[in-house]
Amino acid sequence: MAHPLGIFIRIDEGLEQRLLAAQKLQLPTAQILAPNTEERTADKITKLAAKFKQANIQITVVFCGFEGESYASIPAVKETVGLVPLETRHERLQEAKAIANFARALDVHVVALHIGVIPKATSRDYQNLVQITRDLCDHCRANEQHLHLETGQESAEHLKQFMLAVSRENLAINFDPANMILYGSGEPIVALKQVARWVKSLHCKDANWSANPGIDWGEEVPLGEGQVDMEKFFHTLKEISYDGPLTIEREIGGEKQLQDIARAVKLLHRLRTQVWGE
Ligand code: MG
Repeated sequence: MAHPLGIFIRIDEGLEQRLLAAQKLQLPTAQILAPNTEERTADKITKLAAKFKQANIQITVVFCGFEGESYASIPAVKETVGLVPLETRHERLQEAKAIANFARALDVHVVALHIGVIPKATSRDYQNLVQITRDLCDHCRANEQHLHLETGQESAEHLKQFMLAVSRENLAINFDPANMILYGSGEPIVALKQVARWVKSLHCKDANWSANPGIDWGEEVPLGEGQVDMEKFFHTLKEISYDGPLTIEREIGGEKQLQDIARAVKLLHRLRTQVWGE
C-alpha cells in the first residue's frame, strides 16, 4: 500500500502497551523516538527488533531526542532543542550519529530530528549549523539513510533556504502540519506546498492557533478537530505526490491518547479512501 498508516512511539514510555494498541488498530508502521544510550546495546537492539517483528510493525523513522531539551515554552525550545544550542552542539552531533547507527542496526533507513530554531541566514552561527547538518547527512549517507528535519520551528521559507544551503541529496523533511500552528510559523497547507519537494514523511497531528502566535503555544487537539483542515491537507498531499506513511502523532499520554489515536485511524481510513482510493 502506498500510504500505510502508523503511529509515533516513544520507546522509553509504555512500549508494550503501544505495540498492542497498534496491532489492535492494524497499523503496519511506526516512527520511534530512540531510547536512552543504555537501551541501545546490541543485545537490546535484537530484542527490540523482535518485538516489532512479532507485532508485524515496520519502523519507518528513528527520531533523535537529546538530554536537556525542553518544550515547556517557545523560548525554552529556542534555547534547548536540537543541534542549534552552541554549548551542546558537538556532543549532540555525536549522539545523533550514534542514534543513526542504532537505526542502521534496526535496518531503518530514515533518521529524523528537531534541529532546533534555525537562526537567521545572516547570523554568525548559520554557516556552522549548515556545516554540522552536512556532517550528519554524510554520516547518514554512509549508513544508507536519509535525514529528515521536523517542521514547525521556523517558517517554511526559512526552512527551504536552509535545505538549499545544506544541499545534500539525503536531506528531507518530516512535515508536521500541527507544528506550524503550535509554533505560529505559518499556515500549514501553504507551508506544505513551499517545501513539497522535500517532504518524505509526516505527522498526522492537529492544533488550534494561539491568541499570540509565535509567542505562546497553540493547543494540540485530536486529529480532525483543529485548524489544520485535514481534508485539504490530504488533497494537497495528493497534489504534491506524497507517497510515504501516514504517521499519527498525539502528544498526550494515557488512555485518552489511545482513544484519540483510534479515532484518528478512522478519520485517516476515510480520507485515504477519499483522496487516493486506497
Ligand atoms: Mg511532530
